[in-house]
Amino acid sequence: MIPYGKQSITDQDVDAVVDALRSDFLTQGPTTVRFEDAFREYVGADYAVAFSSGTAALHGAAWAAGLGPQHTVVTSPLTFAASANAARYVGARLGLVDVELSTYGMNLGLVEAGVAASIPVHFAGLPISLEESRWLARPPVVIEDAAHALGAETPSGKVGNCRFSDMTCFSFHPVKAITTGEGGMVTTNSSDLAHRLRLFRNHGISRPDESRPWDYQIIDHGFNYRLTDLQSALGISQLSRLDHFIDRRNEIASAYRSALEHSSNILLPPRGDSGIKHAYHLFPIRVKSKEQFITAMFRLGIRVQVHYIPIHKHPLFRKILVQDGPFPNADSIFEEVVSLPMFPGLTDDNVEYVIKCTLEAAESA
Ligand SMILES: *Cc1c(COP(=O)(O)O)cnc(C)c1O
Repeated sequence: MIPYGKQSITDQDVDAVVDALRSDFLTQGPTTVRFEDAFREYVGADYAVAFSSGTAALHGAAWAAGLGPQHTVVTSPLTFAASANAARYVGARLGLVDVELSTYGMNLGLVEAGVAASIPVHFAGLPISLEESRWLARPPVVIEDAAHALGAETPSGKVGNCRFSDMTCFSFHPVKAITTGEGGMVTTNSSDLAHRLRLFRNHGISRPDESRPWDYQIIDHGFNYRLTDLQSALGISQLSRLDHFIDRRNEIASAYRSALEHSSNILLPPRGDSGIKHAYHLFPIRVKSKEQFITAMFRLGIRVQVHYIPIHKHPLFRKILVQDGPFPNADSIFEEVVSLPMFPGLTDDNVEYVIKCTLEAAESA
């Protein structure tokens, strides 16, 4: 079986974790600080705060921004549950804004005045531009969900540098660009937000006086959302290979594109403008008879996946959305979208086999 995504673990990763295991700290300690420093340097942000998952990172960002029941937060219908749940965790009203066909990302030109915060998603790893001029009404708070887009670049630099946002959230789930098993990160250029993120991550505990390390006060409702030093050791080791991972993902994408672009049964994913570096977390093609195509691919040993069943199609969100549609672009993409296998460990032979099966299955579906 070829999965749609998979981690790449080397001896270097294993050694890094074992070293951490023999150190003085298992949970969050100096290795997590080193991971945060390496990460913020990589993306070009002033601060990085590690979390126990991408979901916790999004929750932390929504809380740090001060969002609550008096606010409306919008995200993309074409995303994982966590982007939408982040708004609900802090009690905010949840709205959706349809995607653009040119990126499959949120159409900022549809974001109306009165929205307190927007959580755009860099879908499949294709970074969307968040420049001021692209919004109909830029909300006071912008939180990027970059769970797909670590390593992606726009002409304004790496995703995560927060040039046009308040915070950017990442995930280190095993199918993502780098992994820590479970894990996440928020980057920001605001010292105040970084402070609030750290407070929230650790039970809302404040230690006002460094000379009295036993003294602490709980000043807010926080959680235990810490990343362990074991995980951070893996993160540092993985981060050192991130650029190779992204290069390999781009190589695989090029192979898919040149082999599939002439098929009249297949629509290739958007590639973005020149000056964009795509992180290719996913390679979401579109085919006419999606379910038949998936069944055929499964039979051939290829576990393709659907990203995503849109947020407004789930029973929970249908009940609580401020407006449950229409989102015609998200709906039309969902009708046809299937993610082909995409991860650095795919061999050239794997890629060739996936191409052959994709052409066959799309022909007969
Ligand atoms: C993976 C993912 C998340 C959540 O990350 P976890 O680390 O699994 O909690 C959030 N948003 C999107 C778009 C994702 O793909």
